[in-house]
Amino acid sequence: MSVPSVSGDEDAVGFWLRDYLESLGWTVDLQKVSENQNNVIAYLNETPRVWFSTHMDTVPPFIEPSEDDEKIYGRGSCDAKGIIAAQITAAQRLRTSGVEDIGLLYTVEEERSSTGARAANNHPLAAKCEYLINGEPTDNDLAIGSKGTFRLNIKTIGKAAHSAYPEQGDSAIERLLDILEDVRHTKFPNDDFFGETTANIGTINGGLALNVIPPMAEAGIAVRLTTPRKPIEDALSSLLRGRGEIEVLSCSEPVRMLAVDGFKQKVVRFTTDIPYLTKWGQPLLLGPGSILVAHTKDEFVLKSELEEAVGLYADLAKKLLATELTVNTEK
Ligand SMILES: [Zn+2]
Repeated sequence: MSVPSVSGDEDAVGFWLRDYLESLGWTVDLQKVSENQNNVIAYLNETPRVWFSTHMDTVPPFIEPSEDDEKIYGRGSCDAKGIIAAQITAAQRLRTSGVEDIGLLYTVEEERSSTGARAANNHPLAAKCEYLINGEPTDNDLAIGSKGTFRLNIKTIGKAAHSAYPEQGDSAIERLLDILEDVRHTKFPNDDFFGETTANIGTINGGLALNVIPPMAEAGIAVRLTTPRKPIEDALSSLLRGRGEIEVLSCSEPVRMLAVDGFKQKVVRFTTDIPYLTKWGQPLLLGPGSILVAHTKDEFVLKSELEEAVGLYADLAKKLLATELTVNTEK
């Protein structure tokens, strides 16, 4: 946690993690993702069937780690460096009990565009992986579903004019405000399993000056998907009625993950690297810490939860290796 690793600057943390894992006897590949970004891929035998994974990057700004008896504070404590520590400790515990059929995959840039996960999907060891236990803060519950994210801009075009002569122009901002009012009152389709589809109007830009009728405006929207993207995009297109245009920025569809008996289960609302790690076997998702403090200045993780996570990761890996599974039944 004391090595800063804001997305785009994960060089140092990757080298640190490589050195640490090598000192424990792991074989480590650094997979180059960009000039100063490497995924860390570690294993004990040539073909692990079960992998632990999460991301090494954090959101800005860097916050120095600190601790008291109960908690560890600072950037990455819960999202996701505490998770890396819990997974490595679980893997070491499994080794001690003779289980070596495990790998570790730590990616870059999850917090921005999952370029690390996209690169990892082409790694040759992916094909041998049967189960990927991904870590994100789920309060140590097993997430059996995660919502998707559809990110888009709505752009409007108007006509500039002197603001004293509004009849000569056409305000792109007023047009955009009308559209956004409709977005706020649209009931998007929901899903019984994944829950409610929600839309956040997160950014708004436009106009040139107070004395000019604005010729252009745009708003950025993130929709938390519980259905495929298509019905949501159709709903947005029909409410636009030609008043503006949609620019798609990115989309990850909702994902169902493996349910395993004996673990508390739930659906989470956030997105992970999992949609981009399609070649890495069946995904599972579990991790210590609360998503509600991730990305905040007060980020922390309970030490007791970290310790509990070590046991849960080790148990989960053992169960998967023994393939005592309850496969998620499609609804
Ligand atoms: Zn995370």
